[in-house]
Amino acid sequence: MIGIFGGTFDPVHFGHLRAIIEVGEIFSLDQVRLIPNKTPPHRLEPSASTSMRLEMLQLAACTLSNVVIDTRELDRDGASYMIDTLSSLRSDFPEQPLLLFVGSDAFNGLTTWHRWCELFDYAHVVVMTRPGSPVQWENDFWDARQVFEAGQLARYKAGKLFFQPITQLDISASAIRKMIAEKRDPRFLLPDTVLDYIQSHHLYQNA
Ligand code: ATP
Repeated sequence: MIGIFGGTFDPVHFGHLRAIIEVGEIFSLDQVRLIPNKTPPHRLEPSASTSMRLEMLQLAACTLSNVVIDTRELDRDGASYMIDTLSSLRSDFPEQPLLLFVGSDAFNGLTTWHRWCELFDYAHVVVMTRPGSPVQWENDFWDARQVFEAGQLARYKAGKLFFQPITQLDISASAIRKMIAEKRDPRFLLPDTVLDYIQSHHLYQNA
């Protein structure tokens, strides 16, 4: 099974990295593909440039095994729609279950994503519970797709919804950016290599 972990990673932090390790182990994933977005449709432009976010991700992920940084959204023009990403991943991996991991905050906005119903044609959606973002139950669509055993995900290539508790780390990129702008110390919320990069490139100086 292939894990898909999209994000802005502005910057990548231990909330992301811990989640990536845990879901890789829990679901015995063959690989986790980290997919930084270029032009996120649902939020403001990232603070750091695309190439800087990618470099920080490379610094953070280089020690993780079975993790691949996938630049397909950066290489594509226009908005980074997950439906386009999943469709291209399905072409690359026609036979394997694809697991799209989203935090509960992202899941609560899922029904605003472009062609959101069709995401389930290409992948399962696995919701990682996240501090401060209890899951809001949106519609009957979820009831029809939810499964309660992780083993079900291996049986189908796509189409199921699963909730996976992970270690709760109340860390967010926006809080880290704010801390840096306020000249506070964000150590132990993100890797030192990423923090060194942020400092040497004077990133996030303004809130
Ligand atoms: P921002 O604070 O700028 O919105 P973020 O910290 O939420 O950023 P993103 O890159 O937007 O980071 O998140 C990518 C994915 O990682 C999303 O699915 C998000 O829910 C998930 N995620 C981010 N932080 C955590 C965390 N601490 N625990 C679990 N999942 C997380």
